Amino acid sequence: MAPSDTATDTIAAISTPTGRGGIGIVRLSGPQAASIASQLVRSHQPLEHAHARLAQVIDTREAAGAMQEAADVEAGQIDEALVTLFAGPNSYTSEDLVEIAAHGSPVVLELLLRRALEHGARLAEPGEFTQRAFLAGRLDLTQAEAVRDLIDAQTLTQARQAASQMGGALSRRAAPAKQSLVELIALLEAGIDFAEDDIDVTPQAEIARRIDEITPTLAALEASFARGRIVHDGLTLAIVGRPNVGKSSLFNRLVERDRAIVTASPGTTRDLVTERISLGGIPIELVDTAGFREGARELLEEAEQLGIRRSHEALADAALVLIVVDSTQPLTDEDQRLLAAVEGRPAIVALNKSDLVKGEAGSTGALRSGISGLAALPTSALTGDGIAELRERILSLATGGAAAEPGMLTNLRQHQAITTALAALADATKANAGSIPHEMILIDLYRGLWALDSLTGQTTSDDILNLIFSTFCIGK
Ligand code: GDP
Repeated sequence: MAPSDTATDTIAAISTPTGRGGIGIVRLSGPQAASIASQLVRSHQPLEHAHARLAQVIDTREAAGAMQEAADVEAGQIDEALVTLFAGPNSYTSEDLVEIAAHGSPVVLELLLRRALEHGARLAEPGEFTQRAFLAGRLDLTQAEAVRDLIDAQTLTQARQAASQMGGALSRRAAPAKQSLVELIALLEAGIDFAEDDIDVTPQAEIARRIDEITPTLAALEASFARGRIVHDGLTLAIVGRPNVGKSSLFNRLVERDRAIVTASPGTTRDLVTERISLGGIPIELVDTAGFREGARELLEEAEQLGIRRSHEALADAALVLIVVDSTQPLTDEDQRLLAAVEGRPAIVALNKSDLVKGEAGSTGALRSGISGLAALPTSALTGDGIAELRERILSLATGGAAAEPGMLTNLRQHQAITTALAALADATKANAGSIPHEMILIDLYRGLWALDSLTGQTTSDDILNLIFSTFCIGK
């Protein structure tokens, strides 16, 4: 856990990913950052705030004395580097911060880090640079979370969302509600403190009006979670259906253009083929339940049993379901069972192999009537017909119609802060309507304020802070 009470020591970390790279960066932050850096690199000019300086990485052997290696390797310099000092408080962490950019060889970067530790730096905990920025008040908690989200972004939409939150969009959106709440609290406190001095007690209707003014802002914020959450987390879509209806073919069609930029998890889980695509910037994990390829079909009966079982397993985990049926055949009992299994859940039915029923509208008509209550659309994995529409349907099913907006809530912690604040305001309204003494109404209002403050991290316990920052990568 990142210790918050030792923020006066100097921390160091390799901030670029492990492994080889064109460039790698070692970062130092704390009062000794510049002096430690001067032990690692020799720069030709003195360090100056926000100016990159060309420098040489000092080879350990020079400092440690002659350590015999191949005679033709000259000691003294191992790499060139660019060294930049960001003098506190005008740095990311608010402390003196030095970045040493060297060639991205793990051995050079590890040498720099090791020497930094030898000269008094401590290895940074995950997220500790950002935690220091937070503790110094440079970032609030929603902004700090956005730093992590930006690094974790897998689609540009996610990156834009994170960047806007990093710019304070969410905090700004919640700020007016907090301001009004503080004013209401001040008003009621004044009424209590000066009750004997004939200061008017705030009328019940005035309190109700003020609470009613705050609530819609918070309710809108709460509602933004519907979209914010899926932009942040993405969704899983299970493609289910009987063997041979075209699940894998549809899966490949959906993947071919929108194949995910990043594959975060291994290709298969529990024998299910998964692939991440980006639809409208929302990461959607497709799960193909077929799992059987050519050659296995002689074991059709067994395959069918296994396929169906997998379909039901995948169904249980997925947020969205795409049921594929073969539109050249009437619905079978298995089809019906799958359709029944998704009742009341977000699902789409693909009437696949539509190319084979062209001109036979009657056959899809009969199929459709067997699929009441679910959106069904004809597709052909073979020709690509209906695939664009299928993508749109999946996206609108995923978003549930919720529009993107600035300052959305994107994680449970934020959502909980807002729902707690809303519940506290609802309690305050009830107490006010019941003509309960203002002292009691104030308890509810303070609870709401506390919740709003926890959104930005003002009233978040150290344990929770440590938990949040520990999900960051090292060096950020
Ligand atoms: P799965 O077992 O449900 O995954 O089905 P596959 O995707 O393996 O497809 C089974 C067979 O149907 C393959 O021979 C595919 O080429 C064929 N197929 C899949 N989709 C279509 C389609 O839209 N039209 C036609 N004509 N054939 C298709």
